Amino acid sequence: MLGGAAGPPGAGAPDEGAFDATPAPAARTAAAHMSPAPAAAGAAAGTAAPAIERVDPRPQVVERDGVALLAGGRCQACRYPTATPLPRCPVCGGPGEPDEIGPGGTVFSATVLRIPVPGRTPPLALAYVDLDDGPRILAHVGGDAAFAAAPGSRVHLVGRTGDGDPLVAPDAAAAPTSGSAS
Ligand SMILES: [Zn+2]
Repeated sequence: MLGGAAGPPGAGAPDEGAFDATPAPAARTAAAHMSPAPAAAGAAAGTAAPAIERVDPRPQVVERDGVALLAGGRCQACRYPTATPLPRCPVCGGPGEPDEIGPGGTVFSATVLRIPVPGRTPPLALAYVDLDDGPRILAHVGGDAAFAAAPGSRVHLVGRTGDGDPLVAPDAAAAPTSGSAS
């Protein structure tokens, strides 16, 4: 029984009241005893764990003179490019340094996501983009959200989405002209 499983054995009301959204006073007391609030317990004991600094793992985009560039990295020894600045090259182990890469790139693969994803509104056009002389990054494709960038087509970084994801757009020459070209 669903209602019975929600509470500790013997504490739940055996009638339809167990299915009500508001627990009976007896059940609420039992639940509070069984599982005290973690925040209150930590504050009372003074043993709260130090906050862990969360680093955004997504490639970052910066703007230089109106041009969007990837804030990536590059090996000083073999020039291998990385999507984020790294202290050491993943290929040769040489020292890495920040490098701003782009904005042009070529679509390696692409898809259109039509299922709901928490924090995002479908449809979403996504593409793996090989930046010119740079790394491959996962980016959103702007413009018509249902547009799936064909592999091999040319795109360029334009910034970030409202959620902070890298955003590319088809190059003007490759974009389908729909009569409203100015
Ligand atoms: Zn290297």
